[in-house]
Amino acid sequence: MFFTAAELTPIAKVGGLADVAGALPKALKKLGVDVRIAIPKYGIVDENKYPLIKVAENVSVPFEGKEETVTIYQTPLPGSDVPVYLIDHKKYLGDNGVYFEQDASSGGTDREAERFTFFARSSLSIFNAINWYPQIVHCQDWHAGMMPVILKILSAHDNNYSQIKTMLTIHNLEYQGWYSAQTIFNALGIDENSYPTLSEQRNGKISSLQQAILASDLLNTVSPTYAQEILTKEYGAGLESSLKKRKSDLIGILNGIDVEVFNPETDRSIIKNYSLTNIAGKSDCKADLQKICGLKPDPKIPILGIVSRLANQKGIDLIYNIADDLAKENVQFVLLGTGSPQLEKMMTEISTRYPDKMFAQIEFNAQLAQKIYAGSDIFLMPSRFEPCGLGQLISLRYGTIPIVRATGGLKDTITDYRTNPEKGNGFVFEKYETADFFQTLKEAIDLYSNDPKAWTNLIRTAMSFDPSWTAAAKQYLQLYKKLLN
Ligand code: ADP
Repeated sequence: MFFTAAELTPIAKVGGLADVAGALPKALKKLGVDVRIAIPKYGIVDENKYPLIKVAENVSVPFEGKEETVTIYQTPLPGSDVPVYLIDHKKYLGDNGVYFEQDASSGGTDREAERFTFFARSSLSIFNAINWYPQIVHCQDWHAGMMPVILKILSAHDNNYSQIKTMLTIHNLEYQGWYSAQTIFNALGIDENSYPTLSEQRNGKISSLQQAILASDLLNTVSPTYAQEILTKEYGAGLESSLKKRKSDLIGILNGIDVEVFNPETDRSIIKNYSLTNIAGKSDCKADLQKICGLKPDPKIPILGIVSRLANQKGIDLIYNIADDLAKENVQFVLLGTGSPQLEKMMTEISTRYPDKMFAQIEFNAQLAQKIYAGSDIFLMPSRFEPCGLGQLISLRYGTIPIVRATGGLKDTITDYRTNPEKGNGFVFEKYETADFFQTLKEAIDLYSNDPKAWTNLIRTAMSFDPSWTAAAKQYLQLYKKLLN
């Protein structure tokens, strides 16, 4: 099985997509699947950290009317024996980090379209060179989404390709890769008549994700609730009709997290390790976080943490709206995130307004992220929509109680303590409204401050949640079997 993604933890991470690509293949390998990963060899890939072995060179890739050539490197996925192929092509894949644009949803530059169309095309060219044809190509999101489309085109002439089944996992419908259809036709050397669904255009642009949805043999998304939500206008991001056409081939499988990486018992990013049975170290982590953030070193003040991309989806505007009211409470607030310049500015602004209570670090920092997961008491994820969400799963694992909105994977993983004190592992609010969010937050703060026993029990319930990939990997295996039958 050939697993393709734009991001891969720890080699090239931007968000949760990287975590999935770094963990699901490992879990599949444990189930006996011959899984191999392909990603572009971006400029940011650190060759000192990941030993790259050249496995093929001068592999020919037809693109934009020319014969391009790529070199293929291989490295094991850290912590496993899953091979990762890195496709090296200076012009299309080698520059910069993963994405050229912050927000690829609204239609991007041709450069991004070329990068990922080239990635898809070249990924399909390497099988001969590595002497291995997969039975299944499993594509993640729109970046790899042109693969099923190109495979359909190639299959018409080449038997090696016609045997390969395709599966698409949708991690986030908002990012679709809207690009000039002509750029893509030119890149692939086809016209729109060569492939019927390429005629789905809007003002001369096509959504790479929509093409993938229409062309893949099987589809899934990353939580059962999101799989339902995206069939509606509210959550469908304009693709609800295409998705409805594929409804019988679309299911939701909840993501897991890599429980070896995200483990408070062994995590080397945090000052003191702890576990469900010996939780004392969590207060050291809290003291450490207060010190790092220049906050009052008081173990009794609850810390509200956030680690997030700063994107419209994530409910950052709700945080901004409650800042003044929050500052009146006996709490501390710690945020780590990067993304939209406007949201970055808003978060920096509230931290400057209340420097004793609020701290905002605008950067990507994997180590600080772990310190926040471990050192906070409460984790905020008031998302407008959330396909699965990993932040709430990581925070559960670190005994940090999530407050989430009832959407997508947040709804599928977090049970509200107020309505179900037995099984509750967090707090859930329904409406995307400031008042609803703040009321829920206040009730959580009240419980923390006034009922330490109940809070400790809540931590235990949270840490008992199994966020591993074990169950999900079995479900994926079922889908692969279905594809092959
Ligand atoms: P999304 O994929 O939409 O960004 P998820 O919750 O699924 O959201 O996954 C986000 C992942 O990225 C988590 O592992 C989170 O800890 C990490 N992350 C997000 N922003 C940062 C940051 N600024 N620094 C470090 N890690 C981050």
